Amino acid sequence: MNLRNPQHALELFPRDTDGLVAELGLPQYVSKQLLDWVYKKQVQSVDEMSNIRKDVRERLAEELEFRKGSLVKTQHASDGTRKHLLEWESTEKRTETVMIPAKARRTACVSSQVGCPVGCTFCASGLEGLGGNLSAGQIVEQVVSLGADEITNIVFMGMGEPLSNYQNVTRAIRILNAPWGLGIGARKITVSTVGLPAAIEKLAKFEIPVTLALSLHAPNDDIRKELIPWAKFATIKEILKACDTYFKATGREITLEYLLLHNVNDRTAHAKELAALCKTLRCNVNLIRYNEVPDLPFERPQTEQVRRFQETLSSAGVNSHIRASRGRDIAAACGQLKRQHITPSIGESS
Ligand code: SF4
Repeated sequence: MNLRNPQHALELFPRDTDGLVAELGLPQYVSKQLLDWVYKKQVQSVDEMSNIRKDVRERLAEELEFRKGSLVKTQHASDGTRKHLLEWESTEKRTETVMIPAKARRTACVSSQVGCPVGCTFCASGLEGLGGNLSAGQIVEQVVSLGADEITNIVFMGMGEPLSNYQNVTRAIRILNAPWGLGIGARKITVSTVGLPAAIEKLAKFEIPVTLALSLHAPNDDIRKELIPWAKFATIKEILKACDTYFKATGREITLEYLLLHNVNDRTAHAKELAALCKTLRCNVNLIRYNEVPDLPFERPQTEQVRRFQETLSSAGVNSHIRASRGRDIAAACGQLKRQHITPSIGESS
């Protein structure tokens, strides 16, 4: 009888499958077969492992669990964006995963936590606080639920602050990146953080040089503290210094994410302040137009305002991209699907 909890199959490493086959007295080659079934063929039960003997499959069934989450709802946007609401163990533990198509690219936007401890004032995910960390297997499972074979890029931009769940997130990245795992290149994996300097410096020593995106969202500390409660733990200067360490260690330019909020951080003076910050770091800027969240006071800026902001950056020599707003008709900003589902008054029908 197995007295341990079954292990999530989607967080197995080769050393784990080696150990498992040794424990079960099986030939070593079964270890690779097992990894192939889990990550290449993404089976949902041992019964599908047709080249493994039935008695062995029965033993494996006691040791492994293939899916922890259940799919509560899928939404499809007219632009091809697809959003999954997954439930883990109880109705309180729900997270979102979004697939965003763009030309040949299929990006999975994954959650790292249930809810979020940061509580940004513009974000739906932070409204209910933190409900717990997701395990590495639960993170990988989100990608598999979207159809891992079609996913080309991963962004940790769903619910949660990935660097406050460092162990599980880096374990998941190893699996997502490994040739025996999902085989997604380091350059195609982005970790997005509100900026925890110590964790960024630790990530600079991590063996997989992923893209680092900093959710800056403000051109100075005063505005930032109004938007991001955790801004009180580190100044922009301290965070950019850690980002510079990351750049020097990995050679990867930092992406600065800047969410444009009408009349809060979208004025020309703000663009000039932002441009000055950009001069201190090798970075590129993503400008994102806010998607309104019911019950929150922020507004989406006008197209003209966004254009002016970008022009100010450009005339200061800073390149920026305006990120297309995807899936607006299914509320693709982080936390919104979950919030709609638990708040029937804002239009959920199922
Ligand atoms: S924006 Fe990101 S860090 Fe801020 S509360 Fe939402 S999920 Fe958390």
